[in-house]
Amino acid sequence: MTKTAGGGESRWVDETLHDDVGLRMRFRVDKMILDTKTEYQHMQFFETKGLGKILVLDGATQLTTWDEFVYHEMMAHVPVMAHGSAENVLIIGGGDGGIAEEVLKHDTVKRLTMVEIDEAVIDFAREHLPEVHGNAFDDPRFNLVIGDGMKHVQETSQRYDVIIVDSTDPIGPAKVLFTEEFYGACSERLTDSGILVTQNGNPLLQPGELLDSVKAFNKHFIDAGCYVCAMPTYVGGFFACGWATHDLENRRVSLDLLEDRYEAGKIKTRYYAPEVHKAAFALPPYIRKLAV
Ligand code: SAM
Repeated sequence: MTKTAGGGESRWVDETLHDDVGLRMRFRVDKMILDTKTEYQHMQFFETKGLGKILVLDGATQLTTWDEFVYHEMMAHVPVMAHGSAENVLIIGGGDGGIAEEVLKHDTVKRLTMVEIDEAVIDFAREHLPEVHGNAFDDPRFNLVIGDGMKHVQETSQRYDVIIVDSTDPIGPAKVLFTEEFYGACSERLTDSGILVTQNGNPLLQPGELLDSVKAFNKHFIDAGCYVCAMPTYVGGFFACGWATHDLENRRVSLDLLEDRYEAGKIKTRYYAPEVHKAAFALPPYIRKLAV
């Protein structure tokens, strides 16, 4: 749970996600908008002078409006651009709408399904985070399912070109989304050239998460690993995006082809770029050894 230190004119909220390592990030809260327990998690939302609006779930930073573009762009555009003709996309989690907004920038996408377990997050984001989700929730291609992502991939008959798991960390309802059973079910729900990407934490602070995920990927996909992005408020250095696909060509997509797709799509981004896409797969040895 996040702790709020009282006293003085400023209140502070601690991120407690990395208490096991003994590392905390502390946000100075200029305006606490919400501090509540939903059916699934502790939800805190507040405004700060320096980092904009901040959403925290169960003590873990979900997003700040100051740097959310980094993670949302890299989780959405890398798989969709690598695939090249993704029409049917699934997001699991993603309640703030940030990834949905990025995916819907692609005209190739005909249908985007988002399976979010906690309706309170959607309702809240719809009202308080328009700068994050744009008008994604009202896009005619957008289809919202309130439910458990694991149940969805086990029960749906849909086949997806891209599955993006934008879940919380494996400390609450998202635990099941870090299991081999879940990754196996995703593997069944992908088309032959489909791509799965996952929120896979910080390799320095949460090495086991990435190691276990990639080990499980390897049992169901011919290409398994991760790529990285520099996401300031997901502390600890590079952030890992899990990568798993049945089609080796997806990783091999050339810089020229990515540039053509980027130009043709007229995709507006602040972090993603074709050369950043290719460079993101160049892993430092300490990450590579976790993700082979
Ligand atoms: N970008 C954030 C991160 O990297 O930690 C995640 C953002 S998003 C708010 C995470 C969402 O995952 C939450 O809204 C949470 O309700 C949802 N979630 C957690 N477990 C889930 C599950 N089993 N099925 C569907 N959604 C789930």
